[in-house]
Amino acid sequence: MSQILDTDVAIVGAGPAGLFAVFELGMLKVRAVLIDALGEVGGQCSALYPEKPIYDIPAHPAIEAGDLVARLEAQIAPFATPRLLGRRVETLTGTAGAFALTTDQGDTVRAKAVIVAAGAGAFGPNRPPLDGLAAYEATGAVQYYVRRREDLRGKRVVIAGGGDSAVDWALALRGVAAAIHFVHRRPKFRAAPESVAQLDAAAAAGEVDMVIPYQLHALHGGDGRLVSVEVADLDGGTKHIAADVLLPFFGLSMDLGPIAGWGLALERHHLAITPATCETNVPGVFAIGDVATYAGKLKLILQGFSEAAMAAHAIHPIVYPDTALHFEYSTSKGVG
Ligand SMILES: Cc1cc2nc3c(=O)[nH]c(=O)nc-3n(C[C@H](O)[C@H](O)[C@H](O)COP(=O)(O)OP(=O)(O)OC[C@H]3O[C@@H](n4cnc5c(N)ncnc54)[C@H](O)[C@@H]3O)c2cc1C
Repeated sequence: MSQILDTDVAIVGAGPAGLFAVFELGMLKVRAVLIDALGEVGGQCSALYPEKPIYDIPAHPAIEAGDLVARLEAQIAPFATPRLLGRRVETLTGTAGAFALTTDQGDTVRAKAVIVAAGAGAFGPNRPPLDGLAAYEATGAVQYYVRRREDLRGKRVVIAGGGDSAVDWALALRGVAAAIHFVHRRPKFRAAPESVAQLDAAAAAGEVDMVIPYQLHALHGGDGRLVSVEVADLDGGTKHIAADVLLPFFGLSMDLGPIAGWGLALERHHLAITPATCETNVPGVFAIGDVATYAGKLKLILQGFSEAAMAAHAIHPIVYPDTALHFEYSTSKGVG
């Protein structure tokens, strides 16, 4: 059923950045409403890699993405923030102090300020150009995300790509998959050096078969059941790898969807912001997390967290124009 909500800040996107923004706003007594197109909170962490460990969250040597989302939820629970899930924000109108957002389900949210934490927008995987791909996608013989590691137990897996996802999954599937073949077109990786060192060690130990320099060439099988993946080297020489599952990790395609039409300044499919405040070119509209860009931006969860704090402080005077904000640590102030 569609709803009409009045709040201080409408947060578009309930990924890690949007979730933490609830906390930072709540600490300043600023109310929020969370809106997400997906049916659950957590953004990419929940939708793409809930069981994958993350190693660069401060104070967590390793934490699975799903656990991180659960802990963020626990952290914002005191603020009892209303959520509109399974609703895509379509329009944004108004000015600072009086914005209105509408969703594809007919909801209206009225807010004094807006935080766009839309990540990669309506994200989707970059697909390899292989014949007959759709039939294999339908059966799960070709998958772009690993939702449950256990689903791959005993399977012969081909991983393709050279970034963090490819390297991390090759490592995470050791002892689970029956065989791991790692296909990449060159011996260089766009992944954390420490993970690449672990991959080298795994290859030396015979745990991962490195198929380099090769590219995906064709899929062989029938009725959506994969029998082998054919790969080609740079001279066109091919070979077959017996496999049950192909995991192509060629990154996400970024599509801002309706957000691109809100009059916000764009820079290569991202929202350009002033780094100190996270404000866009439209006063009262802020952007944080993966969707936001500025010189030196790192697309990391921890960066989204710090942007959430900066945006919350910049928003305080819009919500409380007559009250000066005295900075306090959470340790002295407590939560709520
Ligand atoms: C496989 C993988 C591994 C990763 N590993 C790490 C890692 O180890 N460390 C790290 O720091 N980062 C990692 N990342 C990146 C990290 O997940 C992102 O930086 C992070 O999720 C960005 O958070 P966010 O809140 O900005 O956006 P997202 O997580 O993308 O969430 C944005 C949300 O906005 C919603 N949305 C978009 N448009 C609308 C709209 N119009 N209306 C309503 N909702 C909308 C989307 O549905 C989505 O839920 C990894 C990413 C992937 C894919």
